[in-house]
Amino acid sequence: MPRAYNFSAGPAMLPETVLEQAKTELLDWRGAGMSVMEMSHRGKEFVSIAEQAEADLRELLMIPKDYKVLFLQGGATSQFAMIPMNLLRGKMKADYLNTGIWSEKAIAEAKHYCQVNVVATGKDKKFTTVPERNSWNCDIDAAYFHYTPNETINGVEIHAVPDISVPIVADMSSTILSRPIDVSKFGLIYAGAQKNIGPAGLTIVIVREDLLGNTILSTPTMFDYKAQVEAESMLNTPPTYAWYIAGLVFKWVKAQGGLIAMGERNQRKAEKLYQAIDNSSFYANPVDPTYRSWMNVPFTLANPDLEKTFLSEAKDAGLVTLAGHRSVGGMRASIYNAMPEQGVAALVDFMKDFEKRKA
Ligand code: PMP
Repeated sequence: MPRAYNFSAGPAMLPETVLEQAKTELLDWRGAGMSVMEMSHRGKEFVSIAEQAEADLRELLMIPKDYKVLFLQGGATSQFAMIPMNLLRGKMKADYLNTGIWSEKAIAEAKHYCQVNVVATGKDKKFTTVPERNSWNCDIDAAYFHYTPNETINGVEIHAVPDISVPIVADMSSTILSRPIDVSKFGLIYAGAQKNIGPAGLTIVIVREDLLGNTILSTPTMFDYKAQVEAESMLNTPPTYAWYIAGLVFKWVKAQGGLIAMGERNQRKAEKLYQAIDNSSFYANPVDPTYRSWMNVPFTLANPDLEKTFLSEAKDAGLVTLAGHRSVGGMRASIYNAMPEQGVAALVDFMKDFEKRKA
C-alpha cells in the first residue's frame, strides 16, 4: 500500500524521510540502546536532541538573541489563555483582530482575563476577506495586539505583518515555517506543532524576553513563560518524542533549502490549486485573492450532492482527508510543507477528471 497524499488540516503529513529516520532510530537511538521515547528528559542524550532542535529552529527562522524559544504542551488552545495571563503586564486591555474561527476562539478565551477590543472583524463578509488596515480601531493602551495570520478553517491568510505600535502576538499554528518571517516584528509567536512542525502534543512559543516576568497573580507555574524559560521548557516532563521528531523536521526543512525554498514551493503549490479552481465553473473558492491561504485551500462543488462521491473517488485515488471542517462543510485541501508538489498535481488532475465525468 503506497502512502496516501494526506490533505488533513492537522495532524498532517510528515516528510517521508523523517518517518524513515524515526523508524531506523525507533529501537535504538544512535547507539544509546534505547528509543528516544524511553530516555530521561534530563539525560545527556535527550538534552542534546532538545538543544539541537532549538538551534535548528533558531537558524531557520533567524530568531534574534533576545527571543526565548519554548517547547510546551497544551496546544495552541492553551496559549489562548497563557497569552493574556503573561502579557497583560498590569494592563487591562488587549486588541484582537477577528479573521475567522480561530481568532474567535482566542478572543473568547482572552475575555476571561481582560477587556478585549476587537479592532476589526471579517464576520459580516463570512470571513472571506480581511478588513482594510486603515479601518482597524487599534487602542494605543492595549497590552498587545493578537491576530491569526492563517485561519486554518476559512483559508484566509494575511501575507504581510501589519504595522502596529504595541507588541504583536501571532497564532502561527498553520503557517509557521511555510516561508521566511521577520521574528523581530513580533512580541510573541505561537504554534501547535501538528501541521508544519511535527506530531501533536508539542507547542512552540517564541517570545521577546522583555515581555516576561509580569504575570497575573493566579497564573499556574506551568503557564508562566518565565518559569518555563528558567526551566528550559522542562518544568515537568516535556513531550520528548514530539520534540525529537520536530528536530528531524527542522533538519529536513534545512535540507530542502530553508524557508526561502519552502516559501517558493508553497506558493507554487497554492497557485496551481487556486488556478485549477478559478479556471473551472465546477469548483469555487470564496476567499478574496489578496488573502488566500497558501496552506489551507477550501473549495466547494457547484453541485453539493456530488461531495460524497468526490471524497470517496478521491480516496480511491490515494487523495485523502479532503472534507472541509465540520463547521463550514465543502472541501479543504491542506497543503503544508510536507505535501509534495506531486501531491498537489495529483489532486488537480483528479479534480479535472472528476469535473469532466460529472459536470
Ligand atoms: N489556532 C489555529 C490557527 C489552528 O489551526 C488550531 C488547530 N487547528 C488551533 C489554534 C488549536 O490548536 P491545538 O489543537 O494545538 O490547541
